[in-house]
Amino acid sequence: MTDRKKVYLYYNDTKELAPKIDDLRKLGRKYEFELVTSFADADIIASIGGDGTFLQAIRKSGFREDCLYVGINAGRLGFYTDFTLDDLERIELAMQTGIVEVHRYPTLDVSVDGIQHFQCVNECSIRSNIIKTFAIDVFIDDMHFETFRGDGMVVSTPTGSTAYNKSLRGAIVDPRIKGMQLTEIASLNSNEYRTLGSPLLMSGDRNLTLKIIQDGNDHPIIGADNEALSIRHCHEVQVKVSDKEIKTLKLKDNSFFHKVKRSFL
Ligand code: NAP
Ligand code: MN
Repeated sequence: MTDRKKVYLYYNDTKELAPKIDDLRKLGRKYEFELVTSFADADIIASIGGDGTFLQAIRKSGFREDCLYVGINAGRLGFYTDFTLDDLERIELAMQTGIVEVHRYPTLDVSVDGIQHFQCVNECSIRSNIIKTFAIDVFIDDMHFETFRGDGMVVSTPTGSTAYNKSLRGAIVDPRIKGMQLTEIASLNSNEYRTLGSPLLMSGDRNLTLKIIQDGNDHPIIGADNEALSIRHCHEVQVKVSDKEIKTLKLKDNSFFHKVKRSFL
């Protein structure tokens, strides 16, 4: 059979998880999925764990546009994990009745000094790596917008709006809106320094440029979702909404707003 779906299971191998993974493998075989041992061979990449594990699976497999990502939680349901290992019957029912649908999530394209390029599903964060503040000149398209001084800034996607962005009092954004949101981490506001002070939601065709002011503290930590990039020196970070999206498989009765309500209300 050549049309068998090839599935890669991504998880942290632990004693507790092992028997449940075995059951999942059995279920896969029953439905004639082929379990593969590398990301590159897969049509479906299933992460087993929390939202963090899902983010890692996407990053490690290189944000593949030609495959389907599925999040299976080992505990409570998360934002990216629609299925749960403790309810394999529901996964089975979903496969039998087709109560699943494919969703596309927007991502961000980030470029550092025009040399390093990466994508994000949740957010790109830029933070001072020492106790001193650092300063950023913010440009929207080519217009100088503000000069920020503080701990850092976060640019998030709509699906990332419920993560770090929410802790920074950013708005929750419907993933049908293909935009990006800029939030501040502890900005200094005085007669000397002034920033907008509120989250800023931008259209998907804007170009955001964050120029790190080279005043000694110019070695920020740059985060792509849950990974810190090893960049020693940085002048300029450019962020835009990517034309690449990731495809995920999710349950029909589990929309973004179901998840927001379940988690926060
Ligand atoms: P973590 O420190 O374990 O995650 C923090 C929490 O965020 C976890 O409960 C995680 O869920 C949850 N989460 C991840 N993506 C989410 C989303 N899109 N919507 C709602 N909740 C989400 O680290 P991690 O699990 O590797 O996740 C990385 C993310 O943590 C980053 O992308 C960033 O958004 C977030 N973060 C938040 C803060 C903050 O709020 N102050 C600071 C740093 C990073 P699971 O438990 O299911 O993994
Ligand atoms: Mn986590």
